[in-house]
Amino acid sequence: MTVRRFGIRGRMFAAFGLIALVTVISSATAWFAYENLSRGFSRIVGIDIPSITLASELTAKSGEIVSTAPTLVAASSNRARKRIWDQLLRTIKTTAALVDRLEQYDIPGEQRSALRTQLNAVTSALRALDTNVQRKFWFSNRNQELTESLRWAHADFLDEIDPLIMDARFNIALLLRRSQATTEETSSVARVSNIETRLTQQEVLLQIKSDVNLLVGLIFRAANADDKQQLKSITLFAADSASQVTDGLGKLAKRTGNVSLRQSAKIILSFIDGQNSLINLRRDSLNLLQINRGMLESTALLVGDFQSSAARFAELVKSQAIDQAKSASIVTTRAKNFLIWATLGSIAIAIVVVWFYVGRSLAGRVRRLNLAMGQIAEGDLTTRVPVGGDDEISDMASALEVFRNRISDTQKELVQAGKLAALGQLVAGVAHDLNQPLAALKFQTHNAKVLLKKDNVSEVADNLDQISALSTKMAKKINHLKTLARKPSQSVHDVELKPIIASALDLLEGRINDVGVEVKLNLPKEKLIVRGGENRLEQVFLNVFGNALDAMVTAPVKKLKIEVKNLNGKTTTTVQDSGEGIAEEILPQVFDPFFTTKEVGEGLGLGLSISYNIVKDFGGTINAASKTNVGTTFSVILKTGQK
Ligand code: ADP
Repeated sequence: MTVRRFGIRGRMFAAFGLIALVTVISSATAWFAYENLSRGFSRIVGIDIPSITLASELTAKSGEIVSTAPTLVAASSNRARKRIWDQLLRTIKTTAALVDRLEQYDIPGEQRSALRTQLNAVTSALRALDTNVQRKFWFSNRNQELTESLRWAHADFLDEIDPLIMDARFNIALLLRRSQATTEETSSVARVSNIETRLTQQEVLLQIKSDVNLLVGLIFRAANADDKQQLKSITLFAADSASQVTDGLGKLAKRTGNVSLRQSAKIILSFIDGQNSLINLRRDSLNLLQINRGMLESTALLVGDFQSSAARFAELVKSQAIDQAKSASIVTTRAKNFLIWATLGSIAIAIVVVWFYVGRSLAGRVRRLNLAMGQIAEGDLTTRVPVGGDDEISDMASALEVFRNRISDTQKELVQAGKLAALGQLVAGVAHDLNQPLAALKFQTHNAKVLLKKDNVSEVADNLDQISALSTKMAKKINHLKTLARKPSQSVHDVELKPIIASALDLLEGRINDVGVEVKLNLPKEKLIVRGGENRLEQVFLNVFGNALDAMVTAPVKKLKIEVKNLNGKTTTTVQDSGEGIAEEILPQVFDPFFTTKEVGEGLGLGLSISYNIVKDFGGTINAASKTNVGTTFSVILKTGQK
């Protein structure tokens, strides 16, 4: 057995293998896309979204620092400052923890360290700011303290100066009253001079008081000055008043009563310059406020830097997430397109396989093979078997061809066998037929001998003529049998029908006579040419006529009517007998091989089957119609040949 490399199984395997391969590739692509997508999603969910949240938290925290820092500067009390500072510290701590968390994500190292450095700078700036804010409260307290002291010093001063002024005023009034009472010239000059001195003293005292009052007022204003410019102009004024106070004090008489006044005035003057200077304190305090404002601004700038770094980080993370989503989407789109093409490819392969290979090649060939099988089954052994190709179907076709050839050979053998069987029967009949001429021959020979003895030569010659005629007749019959026994040629050609019918009847003559059948031959006058072969056609008629004779053996009426009609290119020979007929239920089987109703040894059941195939080989048909106990009619329809 040859090994086929690529049969139906192999091709189907290849086709479905290809589809399976496409499916596997499609699944792998889908899996890859899914993996990529899920990796992308995992990254987005696990890294990008937390990073973005972290970035926004960082921005929010830095915003919190920016908004809280001014409240620290503006804190109204140290307690409030402490509370705000604690809050700021907490925010810084949370922010630092957020910056630490950056390490978990895919952030460039320099960005992380920049954020950390900036946060440290913000923290130090805030700490410095807090220290300054604390100092602001020290200044405020000190201011209060000194203001209080100044108030006390002022009160002391007034307590000192007011009695002196009153005293001076009293003394002047006293001197005036005295001078009005005295008329002495000399003493009046002295008194006037005395009064003038007193008046001057009083003026000096009043001037000092008013200057001190102005000075104290200016110091109070300086202590509450809103800005340095205002403080500066107040300071100038205060310096003037102070020098006036000093001048005034210089003008005071060197009396013991004025010592403590001078003392208390000097205490007030000490609030302008030196340790207790409220003005200096206020200047320092205003400077500090200015520094604080500057620090607040620079802190805001630092926080701004931090914020923009956090924003940059957020931007980076966002763009990474977008890139990730984009690449996942590209991969998904590519995979989707590939899957569409792969599916279309699979469908195309399936269509090609089913339509062209299975439909056209396989099914078409199977259909043609089936047709050939049907035709062979119907007996058409000339059917061409569609061989070709190199697969299981071509094996089947080859097998069918071999089968057809075998059947053809077998049929030929069967024809021959059937013919020989018929010959056997015929030989018996012919032997019987020959008996009669042989007896006549014997009689004629005996007569010839007797006539020779009598020298009756002319009658002997007659006798010999009869002997010759008898032997010729016998030789003809024997020759006929010889011809019939020969294997016929398979060719189909134009033959004359009438001699064939006559020859068949001639061969059956003995049996016709034995049975006592009346043969009625109704043939047209003209030559009857049909398509066929003499030998085989004679065999057909021998079968049909023989069966008719068999059917009429016991029949009351024994008539055989043979009629030939030529119509529309067909020559129909009807053979009608008056025999026992064929039962309706077996009529369809009479042409089947080996179907017989005859006794064993009398019939093989091949006659009609062989006849059927012979007529079919000639392109004609044979059929039967029958009625039980009335008779049977066989019609042999042949193609009319050329005249
Ligand atoms: P066989 O003659 O050997 O039986 P055939 O094929 O010639 O085989 O005939 C088959 C059968 O058909 C016969 O046995 C017979 O029953 C039936 N048959 C054929 N011709 C006639 C007929 N003219 N009248 C009645 N029966 C017939």
